[in-house]
Amino acid sequence: MKTLGLIGGMSWESTAIYYRLLNEIVRERLGGLHSAKLLLLSFDFAEIAERQHAGDWDGAGVLLVKAARKLEAGGAEGLVICTNTMHKLADTVQAAISIPLIHIADATGHAVVAAGVKRPALLATRFTMEQDFYKGRLADKYGLQPVVPGQAGRDMVHRIIYDELCQGIVKADSKSAYVEEVGRLRRDEKIDGLIMGCTEITMLIGQGDFDMPVFDTTRIHAEAAIEFALS
Ligand code: GLU
Repeated sequence: MKTLGLIGGMSWESTAIYYRLLNEIVRERLGGLHSAKLLLLSFDFAEIAERQHAGDWDGAGVLLVKAARKLEAGGAEGLVICTNTMHKLADTVQAAISIPLIHIADATGHAVVAAGVKRPALLATRFTMEQDFYKGRLADKYGLQPVVPGQAGRDMVHRIIYDELCQGIVKADSKSAYVEEVGRLRRDEKIDGLIMGCTEITMLIGQGDFDMPVFDTTRIHAEAAIEFALS
């Protein structure tokens, strides 16, 4: 089994979910006392979120590159950035290391295509919903037509991620707001699936809340990482 290097803490709420999933998936595959071989470098998310909201992606890139190099030097054989948003810097990080980066949008794209879904809603941070690094990759490499909420919906989804989920707060009202937003997109935009394109969203909603395919990027990414580790 290969050792995975995780860049986490963005936020630690979802990194904790990754840690559990990675180990559970290895146990499912190998049984007994087997568990994942992992190195974790976990950021103080306040330092990252500050740079995100200031538009200082170069500054965030410097931090991520440093982290990736440390993990590679420590023996990691594959890199996992435990957030969708920070994949905005995936190419920069990959260029700075010689181990492969397991890209969350590629893992997700494969899963969506395999399910026969073509026009999935994408709920994520404002950065992921509004910029092209994620939607563009899904469109160009996987032929998908991701649909994002309108301005008010994007603001609501983004606010709940940063002000609640990343701080460990899970509210029934917020769950209803997400479910209603997806209902609206289904009615108005004819979506045929839902990408939970932020690694904390799995704390709030899941497949049980919808009668169409739901793609949990945290789980999908963890599965792809273990697939790599065991290959
Ligand atoms: N974990 C989230 C994501 O998957 C949001 C926090 C971040 O900006 O990294 O996008």
